Amino acid sequence: MEKEIKKVFEEKFGGEGTLYASAGRINLIGEHTDYNEGYVFPGAIDKVIMADIRPNGTDKVRVFSIDINEYVEFGLNEEDAPSESWARYIFGVCREIIKRGGVVKGFDAVFAGNVPLGAGLSSSAALESCFAFALNDLFNDNKIEKFELALIGQSTEHNYCGVNCGIMDQFASVMGQKGKLMRLDCRDLQYEYFPFNPEDYELVLVDSRVKHELKDSPYNKRRESCERVAKELGLPSLREATFEMLDGIKDKISEEDYKRARFVIGEKQRVLDVCDALVKGDYETVGEKMYETHNGLSKDYEVSCVELDFLNDVAKECGVTGSRIMGGGFGGCTINLVKKDLRDQFVEKAIKAFNEKYGHEPKIYDVIISDGARKL
Ligand code: ADP
Ligand code: MG
Repeated sequence: MEKEIKKVFEEKFGGEGTLYASAGRINLIGEHTDYNEGYVFPGAIDKVIMADIRPNGTDKVRVFSIDINEYVEFGLNEEDAPSESWARYIFGVCREIIKRGGVVKGFDAVFAGNVPLGAGLSSSAALESCFAFALNDLFNDNKIEKFELALIGQSTEHNYCGVNCGIMDQFASVMGQKGKLMRLDCRDLQYEYFPFNPEDYELVLVDSRVKHELKDSPYNKRRESCERVAKELGLPSLREATFEMLDGIKDKISEEDYKRARFVIGEKQRVLDVCDALVKGDYETVGEKMYETHNGLSKDYEVSCVELDFLNDVAKECGVTGSRIMGGGFGGCTINLVKKDLRDQFVEKAIKAFNEKYGHEPKIYDVIISDGARKL
């Protein structure tokens, strides 16, 4: 990829720039916890967006996307927003830096990537954080805090791309480190690194390539359930709730709200348990917790779907150590912690069985926990 980007830069603009990269991300555990002020546990992966960038001494930005094979030029004022959606991520990052008092001047860039688009690995966060990191280095002497770069990416999604996302994806993409996962506390945005170096295991994503469109905004309903239960408990969120407290108000809430809250309370504890297990290098416990999360998402939170439950069952049958839905649910990937010597067998089986049942093959992504935003 590096060579190709350099070659295209030379063709389009002459000479060369400086290479930067940033990564997509996985979330090992901690689902639907962000809006309940719980924890998420993401890490950056070895799938990246890479860009060659050079200031051009003008007030114009000129960018070529190798993967989309499009060239876009824009100015740095608000009214210069490009219409191409991929370019809006870059424009948004420029604008958000400027809005915060940072400096962005004209530059030329060529970029490409191998983070699968729209598969739940956050290619958009990789794109934002690659450019945010680069523009901080090229024009701001790296004075913008790294966490601020993540916020810049998040605001870009909100203000220029119409995606009302949380902070996890950009956080993971910017702050990720090789061999480490990060426990981010969604209540106060404090974070801590934990080792993830499974010598005998691999992380494999199985992308079902289904996305169920649901009319009655199930995400908002889940959120409302959680808020109702927290209110009944007299708490600002489910963060401080315990199973005992929940059982104490069982008669006052609906069966459905009870189940939703039971998942959230369990999930908070599972993230903490996984962190403890990783410190001890106990990947078997990590795997058990992943299955528990899948069960909770499927039975209590009810955000799974037949395809994802099927993939989870296949994993179990194959003896995969841990497997669960990754992301909001109703489609997308499962994330699997699998013993190295089982990997091929599992992947083969998952592809075949899924294809037989649902008429198309899932996509497989092997991932390694790697560095996030960086200069190459
Ligand atoms: P994801 O879950 O992968 O973040 P999104 O829909 O949020 O999915 O972001 C995907 C969008 O990000 C693409 O439609 C495109 O505009 C931009 N993008 C991601 N990767 C690339 C790439 N390699 N080249 C150009 N644009 C990209
Ligand atoms: Mg995205």
